[in-house]
Amino acid sequence: MTGIVHLVGAGPGDPGLLTVRAVELIAAADVILYDRLIPPEALSHARPDAEIVYVGKQGEGPQVPQDDTHRLLLEHARAGRRVVRLKGGDPFVFGRGGEEALVLREAGIPFEVVPGVTAGIAVPAYAGIPVTHRDVASGVAFVTGHEDPAKPESAIDWAALAAFPGTLVFYMGVRTLPRIAERLVAEGRPPSQPVAVVERGTLSGQRTVVATLADVEARAREEGIRAPAITVVGEVVAMREQLAWLEHRPLHGRTVAVMRARAQASALAARLRSLGATVIEAPAIRIEPLDTPVPPLGGYDLVCVTSPNGAERLLDRLRDARELAGRTVAAIGPGTAAALRARGVEPDVVPERAVAEGLVEALAGVPAERVLVARAAEGRDVLPDALRERGAHVDVLPLYRTVAEPLDDETRTAAAGADYLLFTSASSVRFFAEAAGNGALDGPRLASIGPATSAALRERGAEPHLEADPHTPDGLVAALLADARP
Ligand code: SAH
Repeated sequence: MTGIVHLVGAGPGDPGLLTVRAVELIAAADVILYDRLIPPEALSHARPDAEIVYVGKQGEGPQVPQDDTHRLLLEHARAGRRVVRLKGGDPFVFGRGGEEALVLREAGIPFEVVPGVTAGIAVPAYAGIPVTHRDVASGVAFVTGHEDPAKPESAIDWAALAAFPGTLVFYMGVRTLPRIAERLVAEGRPPSQPVAVVERGTLSGQRTVVATLADVEARAREEGIRAPAITVVGEVVAMREQLAWLEHRPLHGRTVAVMRARAQASALAARLRSLGATVIEAPAIRIEPLDTPVPPLGGYDLVCVTSPNGAERLLDRLRDARELAGRTVAAIGPGTAAALRARGVEPDVVPERAVAEGLVEALAGVPAERVLVARAAEGRDVLPDALRERGAHVDVLPLYRTVAEPLDDETRTAAAGADYLLFTSASSVRFFAEAAGNGALDGPRLASIGPATSAALRERGAEPHLEADPHTPDGLVAALLADARP
């Protein structure tokens, strides 16, 4: 049985620009052969047992000859595997996708092409430059800038390009930029025509230099522009003055380190990225489920859940939500309430202040003779103590433990140099300080989700610069936005 090869475009870098089809195929692949300029997040969709092979051939690092890539494609497909050949941008735009498809065709191996968002359109768009615009440019040409324009045998017809009535978009070509500009002017493009060079488009750290054909070389050199970059030549470039949007997002230019276990950090991180922040995910903590026996719930009239993880672990351990029927269910805050709802349980009590003290207040008047508190092993005792004081019998059910995850040097340095460190629990403070050292709390502004987290910071001699209110991830983002406002 022969397998199949999917030639898949992964877009220009922003993981949000992967297509739905690309994600589906990556998730199903047995083997993924990928290039250098693909968003690293794309590979996170792969199956844990998928074979993931780098076959890039530009820039630094290992260079894989095209023939080897062809050989690998054939080998894996002939072994009956589902192969995803993952390429930056679109596979058929300067990606050698056409060559690979021909090889497959000749070998009689079935293939499918999944177009991607190409850098030549997406990168200018992220810089606020439409590649066509009525009255300004009624066409666009995509050109490789790879070739040395000084070569006499150049395959590019420079006179025709210079005369092209529309926008020119050059891929590659950072090195050849000076001669590209020179040739276009020599063949009749006005030296005053605007040019934009966009480095690392759609990625955090995207930079744009706007110049003219006459001075683009000097300007790009001054700014130290490096690959990957797209060069746009044409009157549309002037529209950036009005249409730039990326730079206007509220957290543009800010680096924010998120201290949280991975699964939850990614939602918060995505939110921060969409506000323009460069996000460092420093998962200083990891959730480790415990298999403490769950007592029969029939013996309790109140079940308190004090974190989203607690909600998930508890429901994991029950046969289904019906086991909670007849009990009052209390959630410490909106995040925990949402996690319960996701598993079919509508909490009866959710306090306005999402802290243990708030829950104690909200539970005044709620019948609670026998109470089960489902939570982390290392949780605070405020809630059980307060309920016991009211005469309740309280059992604490530790469902998981949060453990420190060592930070690699790079992440540690990046976090220490961030504008903000975000802490979403007291344990995230403890673990970050353990992993990175108390000194790492000195430079950045410290953002805390609530009083317990702030107390943990103060214990380490670090005063939080902002505290969320309400004490939720949304509250934390709002506090950050208020603080970052110029
Ligand atoms: N198939 C790809 C292009 C591959 S050629 C596509 O359709 O986009 C590689 C060139 O694409 C780079 O040298 C650069 O010019 C451009 N490129 C790719 N990603 C880019 C990015 N994020 N920012 C700027 N240019 C990029």
